[in-house]
Amino acid sequence: MRWPQRQRQGMGMKYIFITGGVVSGLGKGITAASLGRLLKAHGLRVTLGKFDPYLNIDPGTMSPYQHGEVFVTDDGAETDLDVGHYERFIDVNLDRACNTTAGKIYWSVLSRERGGDFLGGTVQVIPHITNEIKDRIYRMGKSGADVVIAEIGGTVGDIESQPFLEAIRQVSVEAGRENVLYIHVSLMVSIAGELKSKPTQHSVKELLSIGIQPDIVVCRTEDDLTQEIRDKIGLFCNIPPECVIQNATANNLYEVPLLLQKEGFDTVVCRKLHMDVPPADMSGWQAMVEEMGRCDQTVVIGLVGKYVSLRDAYLSVAEALRHAGLPVHAKVSIEWINSEQVNDLNAAEMLAHCDGILVPGGFGDRGIDGKISAARYAREHGVPFLGICLGMQMAVVEFARNVCGLESAHSGEFDHDTEVKVIDLMPDQKVVTDLGGTMRLGLYPCRLTAGSKAAAAYGNTEIVYERHRHRYEVSNEYREVLEQAGLLVAGLSPDSKLVEIMEIAGHPFFVGVQFHPEFPSRPARPHPIMAAFVKAAYERGKNSL
Ligand code: GLN
Repeated sequence: MRWPQRQRQGMGMKYIFITGGVVSGLGKGITAASLGRLLKAHGLRVTLGKFDPYLNIDPGTMSPYQHGEVFVTDDGAETDLDVGHYERFIDVNLDRACNTTAGKIYWSVLSRERGGDFLGGTVQVIPHITNEIKDRIYRMGKSGADVVIAEIGGTVGDIESQPFLEAIRQVSVEAGRENVLYIHVSLMVSIAGELKSKPTQHSVKELLSIGIQPDIVVCRTEDDLTQEIRDKIGLFCNIPPECVIQNATANNLYEVPLLLQKEGFDTVVCRKLHMDVPPADMSGWQAMVEEMGRCDQTVVIGLVGKYVSLRDAYLSVAEALRHAGLPVHAKVSIEWINSEQVNDLNAAEMLAHCDGILVPGGFGDRGIDGKISAARYAREHGVPFLGICLGMQMAVVEFARNVCGLESAHSGEFDHDTEVKVIDLMPDQKVVTDLGGTMRLGLYPCRLTAGSKAAAAYGNTEIVYERHRHRYEVSNEYREVLEQAGLLVAGLSPDSKLVEIMEIAGHPFFVGVQFHPEFPSRPARPHPIMAAFVKAAYERGKNSL
């Protein structure tokens, strides 16, 4: 249901800022995404953005150990993983405007300084940096949203986040206090069974010292908040108790919007922002969450990667697998397998219990051999296999070595000296000096091969658009040799120059994709390739019972 145009007219743009207190990793992103979902259910048009105070231009060159996965948007921006939550919760494809870093802000201000924009003046954090931050906040709303939700990364009190907090303070002066809402997400600490509100009080005090009075405090907690503690937080933080919102740890991430709705979160937000909207219709979302709870079968997917000790490194893959289980009413249980520990001799022992094997994307040569062994095991034993980006490239290397007999086959990324680079840079790409955003990034078209498993998964459409993030490609020099040995090119760029999808003919399900199907997957709309993979794994599991 859309909010009637009549009511929308005259309403100024609304801005909601989400800050975090006490510790990082509180799930601010999920809170922001959940609020986005709830407001959308009220008929509002919502956009979400993340403002990260670190100095990198984007997370593209950071290790997943620093920052979790890099989420790629349609327009090829390398963004924070919270953007993935936003897309999955509000079901909108966002763009590069949705993730700003301090690095980007400084870069643009300093480029303008070099261009003479501030001739004669001194460039300062206030007003130049804060103005640039505000410009980007205001720009987010220009794409036709009623409400902009901006999450400020980091924790209140960090030196880096100060210009961001100053900028969002100024927004309420410029846009009108009635159009701006500050939500502070904080941690309730439990000691010997007693919830302690003191850290929350201190972080609110920190916000107040910058001139921001939070309107709502969202408390991350393992235990239920009593009325007494709500009153106490309200009193010390200067807000009515109904603005103290409990955000308990949910079994299922997608339940969070429903739990927050029960707390009256969206009602308070709409009231505080003077938005007279129809009630939220969350029935579809609720049904989806209930359906997830009813999945009674389990599919075991072995995820063979090098960052398995840090789950956030494969966040979208894990979520996309979960979505893909829904059509077969199965819960996907991920077995995290460290690729550095897999080899040809122990592959059976490490992988035999998996219904399907997935090798995700990655960079760098650590654990590469294990990925090749996993692909080999899946190919030789008829285990459903999905290779994503690097996973696909390693499946091609494995096929070249063990089926085509090209023993020294490798990717040019890992073996510069080999004669047989079945994966390589394209000839026009050979010199890479700038590592920032210079890969094949974002949406590219792929023409599907009729009769392939991939084409069937997509419902036999001709062209699909998928999100990419890689530099290397299947080498055209070896395409014929590979195809003659039974590798099926199931998807190509429309000019036929780039292999987008490969399959192995005669295998129950062995598919490699050069793109990332995990990014556009949505809880109620799994990605077709992920869904086909999980279905194949599910069927194998059922048959082996
Ligand atoms: N490292 C590989 C490349 O650059 C694969 C990248 C990925 O898996 N995202 O092509």
